[in-house]
This record gives sequence, structure tokens and C-alpha cells, in this order.
Amino acid sequence: MRIMAQMAMVMNLDKCIGCHTCSVTCKQVWTNRTGMEYVWFNNVESRPGQGYPRRYEDQEKWQGGWKRTRNGGLKLKAGGRFKKLLTIFSNPTLPSLEDYYEPWTYDYRTLTDAPAGDDVPVAQPVSQITGRPMAVTRGANWDDALGGPVNQDPMLEKLNEQVKLEYEEAFLFYLPRLCNHCLNPSCVASCPSGAMYKRAEDGIVLVDQDQCRGWRMCVTGCPYKKVYFNHSTGKAEKCTFCYPRIEVGLPTVCSETCVGRLRYLGLLLYDADRVTAAASVADEQDLYQAQLDVILDPNDDVIAAAALNAGIPQDWLDAARKSPVYQLVKEYQVALPLHPEYRTLPMVWYIPPLSPMVNALAQTGHDGEAQGNLFGAIGSLRIPVEYLASLFSAGDPAPVTWSLQTLAAMRAYMSKKNLGEAADSDPAMDRLYRLLALAKYEERYVIPAAHTEQAHQLEEAVCSVAGYEGGEAAFGSDSGRPVPVSIESFHLTKERQTRDQP
Ligand code: SF4
Ligand code: SF4
Repeated sequence: MRIMAQMAMVMNLDKCIGCHTCSVTCKQVWTNRTGMEYVWFNNVESRPGQGYPRRYEDQEKWQGGWKRTRNGGLKLKAGGRFKKLLTIFSNPTLPSLEDYYEPWTYDYRTLTDAPAGDDVPVAQPVSQITGRPMAVTRGANWDDALGGPVNQDPMLEKLNEQVKLEYEEAFLFYLPRLCNHCLNPSCVASCPSGAMYKRAEDGIVLVDQDQCRGWRMCVTGCPYKKVYFNHSTGKAEKCTFCYPRIEVGLPTVCSETCVGRLRYLGLLLYDADRVTAAASVADEQDLYQAQLDVILDPNDDVIAAAALNAGIPQDWLDAARKSPVYQLVKEYQVALPLHPEYRTLPMVWYIPPLSPMVNALAQTGHDGEAQGNLFGAIGSLRIPVEYLASLFSAGDPAPVTWSLQTLAAMRAYMSKKNLGEAADSDPAMDRLYRLLALAKYEERYVIPAAHTEQAHQLEEAVCSVAGYEGGEAAFGSDSGRPVPVSIESFHLTKERQTRDQP
């Protein structure tokens, strides 16, 4: 057993109002510069919808993530080292600007400098790439609130007609997305230059800008399309999980500014020796359970002793015990990973939305808060469980149903309790309610500060990625070899991330 710590996030989709504040604040901090105009480290998609870049979930086309080989190992879907070598100068499976969108601004000078005349001056859209006037035909959230061609959603395409129709009638929900800082990141394994790495101390996946040669294999390798190419510097960039903030105990910018207060941050302890086996289970629908099994109980004395022995500091262990992410992911099992079938073991988790069902029940004259009605509705009225399952559990409805039933039971319990009708108090439900409805800042974000004195020792540690194709280290990547940088200087990163030149 090799215990490692992972900083992880949970988002409660019931509360997301699609305001895009998280995306905008993230952009202002990280990608508001030349070459990154089209980039949104955090974006919010309406579901059903095509997402950003468009139809990124169509892995037949984009070849992201891992596939299981016949002998039970893992192989990058986009191909191993030989194929990479052949395509290194012209990677064929890259999204183009057409798939993202052409970023634009407006020519505001016409508003202020136009001579007096009969016509009202208009600020024309101008391409931020070419500087020429352009017609705006798409954007990063073009599907917003079902505004786009929802039937082109790759997940909806897989469902039968009846489900599609009922789904489109039923509701929409918002899905905020960022890099999942996966336990088994295919982006890291795809990098021929060893520039991408997973930090040993907290599992944050980063790109070493000095080592990146701009091959863009990581862009292809990430099935979530959360690595981006900076056209100005010629380097790959991605969400950093705001590590300069995390290192001093502050939440990520997207979490701090989230209007719905729906994001939770905390530590998970996991067994790095079991990651590859968990990602390689034969049946895709077993991947969620395998991912859960890798996560260890920090309250178990044996695990705690082993964690301390592995060099995890006492205050990190204490934080893991208080982690809201651990409670929602492992104890209550209400938070699920996005597309576990990509076999990357993502560490951003989602609580599927329940609210529309309550509203739908209330509209039919039924008590939308009664437990019996809610449970019945999950099985019958709410056919989109299949759609949610296609997002969060490789098509297996059981984990989604469990999550929704738990949320429904909590609602019903609290409703009865508030009306003075609850027979017995239920501490587990009280705790879940507190976590989901009332949790204060310090309960939502349990982030231990970094131990800079351990930086050198951590450089000797190994990354959790074990490689692929029979345990061999991933092609030219950091997999299985010492992590090059553990704790970087904030000023160095700021300088890198804000300069416009390579
Ligand atoms: S989502 Fe996973 S595979 Fe994609 S960039 Fe992030 S860590 Fe890598
Ligand atoms: S800021 Fe919060 S509520 Fe608004 S879109 Fe982002 S995740 Fe949703």
C-alpha cells in the first residue's frame, strides 16, 4: 500500500444557476492574455448540449482517455509510442478553432469616434485572432439554456427516442467543468516531453512550461479536452487548481467566487498502488466502484498510521478526516465522477441534480417533498436517470439512483422534521443536510497549507501513474519517475503565466 493525498472537488449540481461567474473569474486570473483568448479552464455547459469544445465526449472521433487491452492492461486510446512518433509533427486528432470557437471583441472606437450622422454607430465584432471583422456563429457556451442543437449532444444520441423526448421536455441543468486532476491522467501519459506531471503532495496535474515542446499530444490524450494550446507561446496550458492559493490554504478562484456556493474542496487519501488495477477493470460499469475502493478511510487507525509513515503530515491527516469531499464521495456516495469510462479516475465529483423532479411532482398535484412520491418518481417519471448515468456512471443507473434517493430521503426527513412530524432524529441525515444546505466557508473548504519544508523530500516521491501496456512507464512522460517540481514559487509561475512571449 502506498498512501498518497489528493486535493479534490465536489460540485452540487442542484445549486448551479449557470451564471458563469466561476468561468469569468477564472479567466480573469489565469487566461486573460494573448494566445489564450479562446481558452476557458473552467466552463459551464448546459445539458443536454454539445459542450466545449463541441462534442468533446465523442471519443470515437477525439480518441481521448484510455482503453483496456485484451490482456487486461491499459493503452492510450490515441495510440502508443509508435503511433505518436509517426504523428508527432501532425497530430491528426486535435480540435480546431472551429470546434472551440473564434474569440472576438468589439470595435468600440466606432461608438466613440464615429462622426455625427443619421445612423446609430454600431460596434462590429472583431476577431481576436485575425483582427478582422467577423460574424459570430458560436461561442464557448453557445448551447446556453438549451439555446443550441441539443440533439447533437453525444450522450443523448446514445439514448432511445422515448428517453430523448421526455428528457427534452423535462428540464436542463448546468454542468461546470474544469480539469479533473485525475488519479490516472491520460494527458500525463501522452506527453512525449515529460512536461506534464502530477504533483506528489496533492495530486494537482501541471504543465512544466520550460519542458513543454508544444506537441499537443496532451490535448488529444485528455478525454475531457481540458488541456489547451497557447498559440502565442507555443506551449500547452491547463487548470492549475489554483495551486498558489491551495498551498496557503485558500480555495480555488472558481470555488471562492461560486454564486451558488456549490463547490467543496478537501483531501482524499488513496492507495497509489491500486490505481492502475482500478482503472483496468474489465466492465466499464465497475469503474465507479473500483475508483471508490482506491480511496482510503482516514479515520481507520491502520490507514492513519500508514499515512503518517508515508510522510503525510499530521495536519493533512486531520484535514482528510474533516474533508467534505470524503464525506460526499465515500461516506454518503452522493457525488459521482464524470465519465468514469474514460478510465482516468477523475477527482472532480458531481452530485446529480434532483430539484426538477420535485418541481415536476408538485406540478402534478403531488407532494414533491414526500419520500414515497420522490422515490417512485426517480424510478418512473424521471427517465433521465439514464442520461445522468451516461454522464456519471458509464450508463449504470444504480449509483445515480442511490445518490438521488439519498438526496430525496434527506429532503423528506428535513421536511418532516421542520413540521415536527419526524419520529426519530437521524444524525447521518442531519449531517448531510448541514453539509449540503448550511455549510459555512470553513466547512466547504478544508484545505491544509503546504509544507514547504517537505519540498525536497517530495521530489524523491513517485507519481501515482504506473504507466501502461504491462506496467511500462508511459511514453516519455513522468509516469513512475520522480516528480520534477513539487512546490513552485508563486512569482515564477506568475511570470510564466502572464508573459506573452515564449
Ligand atoms: S482532466 Fe484528467 S486527463 Fe484531462 S487534463 Fe485534467 S488530469 Fe489530464
Ligand atoms: S459560479 Fe457557481 S452557480 Fe455560477 S455557474 Fe459557476 S458553478 Fe454554477
